[in-house]
Amino acid sequence: MYIDKEEIFNHINTRPFRIISEAADELGVEAYVIGGYVRDIFLHRPSKDIDVVAVGSGIELAKTVAKKFGKYTHLAVYKNFGTAQVKSGEIEIEFVGARKESYHRDSRKPVVEDGTLEDDQNRRDFTINALALCLNKNRYGELVDPFDGLEDMENLTIRTPLDPDITFSDDPLRMMRAIRFATQLGFFIDPETFDAIVRNKERIHIISQERIADELNKIILSPKPSIGFELLDKTGLLSIIFPELTALKGVETKEGIGHKDNFAHTLMVLDRLSKDTGNLWLRWSAVFHDIAKPATKRWDNRLGWTFHNHNFIGERMIPKIFKRMKFPMNEKMKYVQKMVNLHMRPIALADDEVTDSAVRRLLFDAGDDIDDLMLLCEADITSKNPEKVRRFLNNFRLVREKLAIIEEKDRVRNFQPPVSGEEIMKTFALPPSQPVGVIKEAIKNAILDGVIPNEYEAAYEFMLKKAAEMGLTPVKPIC
Ligand code: ATP
Repeated sequence: MYIDKEEIFNHINTRPFRIISEAADELGVEAYVIGGYVRDIFLHRPSKDIDVVAVGSGIELAKTVAKKFGKYTHLAVYKNFGTAQVKSGEIEIEFVGARKESYHRDSRKPVVEDGTLEDDQNRRDFTINALALCLNKNRYGELVDPFDGLEDMENLTIRTPLDPDITFSDDPLRMMRAIRFATQLGFFIDPETFDAIVRNKERIHIISQERIADELNKIILSPKPSIGFELLDKTGLLSIIFPELTALKGVETKEGIGHKDNFAHTLMVLDRLSKDTGNLWLRWSAVFHDIAKPATKRWDNRLGWTFHNHNFIGERMIPKIFKRMKFPMNEKMKYVQKMVNLHMRPIALADDEVTDSAVRRLLFDAGDDIDDLMLLCEADITSKNPEKVRRFLNNFRLVREKLAIIEEKDRVRNFQPPVSGEEIMKTFALPPSQPVGVIKEAIKNAILDGVIPNEYEAAYEFMLKKAAEMGLTPVKPIC
């Protein structure tokens, strides 16, 4: 973690920072690179966005910098916010004047006035996000760290610079950010900061759902997302923002038989899957895969605990949750629904004999998402019984092998019926009507069940046979 002065100096000894330095000295203002960029230097993380604070006008500094950058530089000034952005090639730099903020209870939008660097650091959310490096020539690379952010970084600690109750009450989004940073960086939340989140959790209600969703997505995309969900749960935030997930918690026992804790199981599946994929919506599918278990839980004297149809009910619960969470209600949601719906299928296959026709149907239903589904299903095997795990994984291997063979042979992944509805109508002089659908469905099933190959000739023959059974005759004689 420790980085010496020379290393810091090397980090900012680049043309953009040199230009900012020159411009600040010319204007006679102090300028600092601050926040996430500085934090990420110490954490050896790549960081793109550069935030610069000027003790004076950030906009004037940005204008001077943009001029010095020269051709192909884009300057955007946001007068109302007192900020400006300079873009040049890959580089994006935000400029703001040092400011002091005060808050009203019902809003996270502060009243802003000009301030000192110290004021500006006071308004930052965490000590590790309040580090500033001076860019003026005579103090180039000097670290200003009033809250021991560096020490917190070494101790892997998330801590607010000021009284955490005030910090979180002023802007409750910071509670989500604390948990997000802890998850992304693998840090711990300082106990006082943690307790303040617990005390202020209800304040999350003043935060827009879009901002909460942004933070949840960042948590989900972290290397070990369960850290975030555990923290959200322990602070009490999860039951406010995502009660369907906390409903998965707990184990009920009857006649000495318990079921697994579905919350712990869900998080385990999520972590396991996250090792194999960076796909945000596949990771969300893991979160949602057992969401209907509480709603479908029954005790059966013969079978013990059952969760019949939890995949179908789960699929149906998703739109309401997505709407409330302001998640996209488009093909992303449909994908998650499909994953939840199908997540039992390969397991059911693994219980029975893995027949060609079952695999063909699975491939037909999953389409191009079959590989994602298999990843989810493999991550879903969290049993502690090694014999069971071995059997499941072995059968999954069989399913995968058969998938490859059937895909090659039958091309049902993105199934297009070899005989179209139009052709059926033309052959039997039928209007668009139920019999057309019945014939089409019969052809599809015959292909999926392996009765006929996925080919035009065979499908045409089958159509004639099926139609004859239904009392239909072709309008033209068949040659
Ligand atoms: P990331 O880019 O991963 O989100 P970051 O720290 O750069 O990390 P930004 O949201 O870009 O996050 O914010 C830049 C800096 O602005 C932060 O490092 C922090 O100093 C400050 N900041 C951002 N949001 C808040 C907030 N809600 N309250 C206080 N300070 C904040």
